[in-house]
Amino acid sequence: VAQKTYLFVANWKMNVPFDAAQFFFGLHSAQLQQIACSTGNTLIVCPSFVSLSEAVAAVRGTQIHIGAQNCSEHVSGAYTGEVDAVSLAQMGTEYCIVGHSERRQYYGETNEMVAGKVAQLMAVGITPIMCIGQTREQYKNNETKSALMNQLMPIFCVLRTAQSAVIAYEPVWAIGTGELPDVQHIAGITEWVRELCAAELPHAKVQVLYGGSVSESNAQDIMKDARVDGVLMGGVSLDFQKFKNIVSLKR
Ligand code: PEP
Repeated sequence: VAQKTYLFVANWKMNVPFDAAQFFFGLHSAQLQQIACSTGNTLIVCPSFVSLSEAVAAVRGTQIHIGAQNCSEHVSGAYTGEVDAVSLAQMGTEYCIVGHSERRQYYGETNEMVAGKVAQLMAVGITPIMCIGQTREQYKNNETKSALMNQLMPIFCVLRTAQSAVIAYEPVWAIGTGELPDVQHIAGITEWVRELCAAELPHAKVQVLYGGSVSESNAQDIMKDARVDGVLMGGVSLDFQKFKNIVSLKR
């Protein structure tokens, strides 16, 4: 069944310090709430771990949701510096990005680790926003589907009983570069992901997003012409005017 509204995710990465995050919610929550109400769109803001608690408090009673950017694949234990899904849930975090290409690239996250994180999140009722994407080389060599399949299969195994799932298709080479695949490519891949999910996860309502250099000028085309359920934004989510214009788009 086609969704009637869009889902938008702002991934702030490590770009918004604690005081700026507080400032953002203080200044903009009311306006974002108004947009969420008038459009019916789902807005998810993902600040860094240390700002989560304040962010959750700031949006309480609104339709703005808060997500984390990562979590541990372990339930608890001697994992210095890691953050467990149980704590995220206790803090009121509703979503969590997992498998972002920066985590895979810089912190050695494997597909199995990502699947472990998804399992931890599912256990505590947090919706994982699962990022998948291919490198430029894989894209050029026509290896996109096999690369994505390698990332998806371990995730499908832990999602068998899931009621809902969010998958973000993010070509690694499109993240933060201003360089995007064409809309036909995005449409083809996201449709293929949707079909795979229908076969592998027949019980889940799956939303498929696109991410990678989304801007004010391309968001509308990507969402309409590629028929995606929404977008995951990095850079553009840091500019409130631009972010606001994108999340105001109606399906
Ligand atoms: C991202 O980091 O997931 C992302 C989509 O970044 P950007 O929008 O800056 O390309």
